[in-house]
Amino acid sequence: MSERIVDVLIVGAGASGAALAWSLAGSKLDVLCLEQGGWMKQEEYPSNEVAWELRRLTDFGLSPNDRKRPADYPVNDASSPIAVSNFNAVGGSTILFAGHFPRLHPSDFRARTLDGVGADWPLDYRTLAPFYDLNERMTGVSGLVGDPAYPSDPAKVPPLPPLPMGKLGETMARGFNRLGWHWWPSDSAIISEPWEGRAPCINAGTCLAGCAQGAKSSTDVTYWPVALRGGGVRLETGCRVREITVGADGLADGVIYWDAEGVERRQRAHVVVLACNGVGTPRLLLNSRSSLFPDGLANRSGLVGRNLMFHPYAMVTGLFDEPLEGYRGATGCCIMSQEFYETDAARGFLRGYSFEILRGLGPVFTALMAFGWGRLPWGPDHHGAYAEVFDRTAALVVIGEDLPEEVNTVTLDPELKDAHGVPAPKITYRLGENSERLMAHGAARAKEVLDAAGARETFCEPILRVAGWHLMGTARMGTDPETSVVNEWGRCHDVKNLFVIDGSIFPTAGAVNPTNTIQALALRIGDAMRRDLPALLD
Ligand SMILES: Cc1cc2nc3c(=O)[nH]c(=O)nc-3n(C[C@H](O)[C@H](O)[C@H](O)COP(=O)(O)OP(=O)(O)OC[C@H]3O[C@@H](n4cnc5c(N)ncnc54)[C@H](O)[C@@H]3O)c2cc1C
Repeated sequence: MSERIVDVLIVGAGASGAALAWSLAGSKLDVLCLEQGGWMKQEEYPSNEVAWELRRLTDFGLSPNDRKRPADYPVNDASSPIAVSNFNAVGGSTILFAGHFPRLHPSDFRARTLDGVGADWPLDYRTLAPFYDLNERMTGVSGLVGDPAYPSDPAKVPPLPPLPMGKLGETMARGFNRLGWHWWPSDSAIISEPWEGRAPCINAGTCLAGCAQGAKSSTDVTYWPVALRGGGVRLETGCRVREITVGADGLADGVIYWDAEGVERRQRAHVVVLACNGVGTPRLLLNSRSSLFPDGLANRSGLVGRNLMFHPYAMVTGLFDEPLEGYRGATGCCIMSQEFYETDAARGFLRGYSFEILRGLGPVFTALMAFGWGRLPWGPDHHGAYAEVFDRTAALVVIGEDLPEEVNTVTLDPELKDAHGVPAPKITYRLGENSERLMAHGAARAKEVLDAAGARETFCEPILRVAGWHLMGTARMGTDPETSVVNEWGRCHDVKNLFVIDGSIFPTAGAVNPTNTIQALALRIGDAMRRDLPALLD
């Protein structure tokens, strides 16, 4: 049993845990991060092999239920049309992420005031803007200054030039231009030029299976190396935390975990920070029951695990006559449109959505998709039919704002357990009426864009089941302990030395990918801890 008491114990080394650890490095604080996964090795990524796409269906799959790596825990998502997608390692889900890196809009922080739905955030865009700037520098964001969808004050200035749009991006941009709709090169967490000792993107198109080039800014190549060099920060891998423990005073006093050898250990801490994502964090809180907190730790509001938000995704794919060179280039990062981002009640729903243009479909996934459309017969016509689809597709995804609803939950499954026998999370989720209308509108507009860009046919998947990769809302922040779990600093209302810094704390989801915001919040919280904690702990 270790009796060393660390100042700050972070659970989870993904996007948010890494940003916080970096923020605290070199301060007077003794910081330890426990992560259930290990370090990834770039030379072992699937893209080093010819059959790299097949491993996207096995050990690099999106769902932990398919992947079944030792670090994974199962998730019961049978009661949800959207399946949870994540990764458990140093870098967390950024190992697989596409790297699309937009900011929220100012209006996203005020949905209740503006539209009477969701909840206002306890902070605003302007407050977070300096931390977006810092995160974008640390990450090495590629993009183009001047996007009219964002305020020019404070200006968003990506540190690196945008990734190439390629022929596919230019084709789709022409479609948007014909309709007179907004589009802009994506802000991407993928470096377009050498940055901080890393080599730039080579347009391999393998982003979703880990980036062997190291150009994608997963936090194992951005924040962690600098944090560990900075002093005062340790990272222990292969350590699965079972529960957070609480003293008689009702404060968190540490965690119980299994180390890499499977030995059960206790680690004491003055401050505990959860960075396990929007599913892993409520799971851990609910698994940390005690006589003081019989319904789960920090759950006096009953809101831990409630208000789960995904971003529902619809995907509309166009089939073109000409090759589009779409297998080259960053998969998720090309151009995006926010023409329908802000509320227009005339559309029949509140809030809005973004379009992202996808590229990078490799040969196997092209075949699987065409087979699903009934366009790839077996027999003598097979190769001819394949040649008509390979490199002739472009996809638009609609990423919709999901409103927080208490019926959408992460709870503990009564039967399913992880390899250590700890109850697994169960997802209960359905699309709300507003989301249904919003997604239908988006799918219809996506088809218009593809038609305008010259697609000869389109295929629509109204809700993409695999797309449960944005996990938000399950320990929401706010000022009122009755209606929120943490305050604007991620500090639990019920347990003053317990913090949550991942996507769980989002009161609303916005309609953009969340990681830039998750990390900006973690940096802001880290900034305050670095300033205030040493004196408090002296
Ligand atoms: C396929 C895919 C594509 C994506 N594309 C994008 C994108 O383009 N843009 C974007 O913004 N976002 C994207 N995301 C989402 C993005 O990866 C997440 O928003 C982000 O990583 C969340 O950060 P986090 O710190 O909350 O959690 P994670 O990064 O998920 O990290 C959580 C960490 O906690 C660890 N952990 C959990 N429980 C325990 C425990 N009990 N003990 C010890 N360790 C534990 C996990 O192993 C994990 O490493 C994508 C995700 C996926 C899977």
